[in-house]
Amino acid sequence: MRIARSGRHHTSGQRRQRRASRQWIWRFAMKPSISVLGTGRMGSALARALLRAGYRTTVWNRTKEKAEPLAALGATVAPTVRQAIDAAEIVIVNVSDYAATAALLRAGDVAPGLRGKLIVELTSGTPEGARETSQWVAAQGARYIDGAILATPDFIGTDAGTILLSGALAPFTANENVFRALGGNVQHIGSDEGLANALDSAVLALMWGALFGGLHAIAVSKAEDIDLGELGRQWKATAPVIEGLVADLIKRTGAGRFASDAETLSSISPHYGAFQHLKELMEARSIDRTVVDGYDAIFRRAIASGHLHDDFAALSQFTGKA
Ligand code: NAP
Repeated sequence: MRIARSGRHHTSGQRRQRRASRQWIWRFAMKPSISVLGTGRMGSALARALLRAGYRTTVWNRTKEKAEPLAALGATVAPTVRQAIDAAEIVIVNVSDYAATAALLRAGDVAPGLRGKLIVELTSGTPEGARETSQWVAAQGARYIDGAILATPDFIGTDAGTILLSGALAPFTANENVFRALGGNVQHIGSDEGLANALDSAVLALMWGALFGGLHAIAVSKAEDIDLGELGRQWKATAPVIEGLVADLIKRTGAGRFASDAETLSSISPHYGAFQHLKELMEARSIDRTVVDGYDAIFRRAIASGHLHDDFAALSQFTGKA
C-alpha cells in the first residue's frame, strides 16, 4: 500500500481505478469528437473504424435505420444533420455525390453550424466539385480536406486501406491519427483540393479497364466453353505480366519514350495483330464489341499516323485531349 500525496492510503484497487480513469480521459477527452454524415456501406465502415480506434463518434443518416446498428458499437445517432455537426469537431461526409453533400450542408439551419469545424469530404466526386465545395466551406468559416477512398468497405480501418487526401496540410497533420484510423495507407497528396478526386478518377480508369476486360474475357470464355475456373487460374498467372505492362506504359509515357527501343516490351504491331484475333472471335460469336471497337479506333488513328512499329506507349498520344 502506498501513501498518496494527500496523506491518504490508496489500495491497489483504488490505484487501478485511478489509472483506468486516467486512461479513459486520455482515450476520449484528448481525441477529437467526430461525426459521420452518411452511413451507407462506406460511411458505416468509416464510423466502425473510428469507434474501434476509440473516437467519440456521432452518426447521421437520411434513412435512420441504417445508422442504428452503429449505436450498439458505441456511436450516438443524431436525429438531425445540425445536431450531428454540433456534436463534433470533425465532420466526415460520405454520401452518394457532391449534390447530396450540398443539400445537407447548405441547408439554412445547418450552414451556420459549420464555423470552426473541420469538414472532411470523403464522397466520390470531380476535382471541380472538390474545389468549389472547399471554397464554400471556407466562406462558412470552416476548414476543409477532400478525400478519395481507393478501397472497398472491408479495407477501411485496415493497414491496406488507401485514402488519398488533398487540401491544406495543417488540418491533416493535426489530425493524422484520425485519418490513420480509417486506413493504414492514408496519404496527403497535395494542397489542391481537387487532386484526390483527380487521382481517384485516374486509378478508377485502371480499375474499369481491368473489370471491363474481365467482362470480355468471361464472354469469350463462355462462348468457347472455357471453364471460368480455368480463366481465373490464367488470370492469376498473367496478372503480373499485365501489371508490368501497365507500369511500363506509365513510365515510358512519363518519359516521352514512344519510339521502339531495346527496352520495348511490345510494339503496336504485334498488339494490333493479336487484337484482330480477339475482334474476329467476338464477331464470330456475336459478342458485344462496343468497347473493343473503341480500342480499334485508337489503334487505327495511331497506325494511320505512322506509329505501327512504335512502342505501345505511343498510343497515349491518341487518348488525350480530343
Ligand atoms: P451507399 O451504400 O449507396 O450509401 C449512399 C449513402 O448516401 C447513404 O447513406 C444514403 O442515404 C446517402 N445519400 C444519398 N443521397 C442522399 C441525399 N440526397 N441526402 C442525404 N443522404 C443521401 O453507397 P456507399 O458505397 O456507402 O458509397 C458512398 C460514397 O463512398 C460514394 O461517393 C462512393 O463513390 C464512395 N466510395 C464507395 C466505395 C465502396 O466500395 N462502396 C469505394 C470508394 C468510394 P440513405 O441511406 O438514406 O439512402
